[in-house]
Amino acid sequence: MVHFVGAGSGAPDLITLRGDALLRRADVVIWAGSLVNPRLLEVCRDDCEIFDSATMTLEEVLDRMRAAEERGLEVVRLHTGDPCMYGAIQEQMDALDKMGIAYDVVPGVSSFCGAAAALRTELTAPGISQTVTLTRLAGRTPMPEGEDMAALASRGGTMVIFLSAGHLDRLQEELLAAGRDADEPAAIVYKATWPDEKVMRCTVGTLAQTGADNAVRSTALVVVGRVLAGDVPRSCLYDPSFETAFRPAHQGRG
Ligand code: SAH
Repeated sequence: MVHFVGAGSGAPDLITLRGDALLRRADVVIWAGSLVNPRLLEVCRDDCEIFDSATMTLEEVLDRMRAAEERGLEVVRLHTGDPCMYGAIQEQMDALDKMGIAYDVVPGVSSFCGAAAALRTELTAPGISQTVTLTRLAGRTPMPEGEDMAALASRGGTMVIFLSAGHLDRLQEELLAAGRDADEPAAIVYKATWPDEKVMRCTVGTLAQTGADNAVRSTALVVVGRVLAGDVPRSCLYDPSFETAFRPAHQGRG
């Protein structure tokens, strides 16, 4: 059995209880050493076999999984954040299906949630943004048609941009070309929830300069949107005049 486990965004106590329990009893752990906090491995058994997938190909990862399955061992495949975002787990699951090896997926705290926490910002705010676009710039992986930055950024709303910290000048250019205002609030969050976390607030027009000034090249997210300005209108949900299934309406605002 293979368990794909989300390690969370960095801090070792942000893994789920379920993920932690699986790590503690795993016979084999294949972990994404380039991004997962090594402190998470401290709970592994002394005789647990640990492999760093940063140095492995997909074939090598699958070979390890197959060998473990043949020996009746339990494998944890530890991915950074939540495995559903840029985790490359689909290709592993498809291969396990073909090999007839059972697996499940344990979610984790994605770095975009870690970044929102670091910023102390709600990514959705009434009247300002009710949509969050999670995306990236094209890199070696091209963007499918209609998903280029120009198309996505021109729709408005909050954006969280992964895997693009090395190309902040291009990102800034594409956001401006898509019609985002140079003065619109933005932020770069480096290593959210790690001990060396760094939050850099800026604007769309100063993204590249801010990144350069702080030597940001990787392990960072870019957040763009008016929600970052704070001081948002209050929600209907907790308005006294708003009735919900759990609370009758009160007269006037409290
Ligand atoms: N599955 C992961 C994303 C993997 S892609 C998740 O859910 O977070 C790797 C990219 O995620 C990095 O290039 C960076 O953009 C972002 N990232 C991962 N961890 C991060 C962190 N702690 N702080 C900021 N960005 C992070």
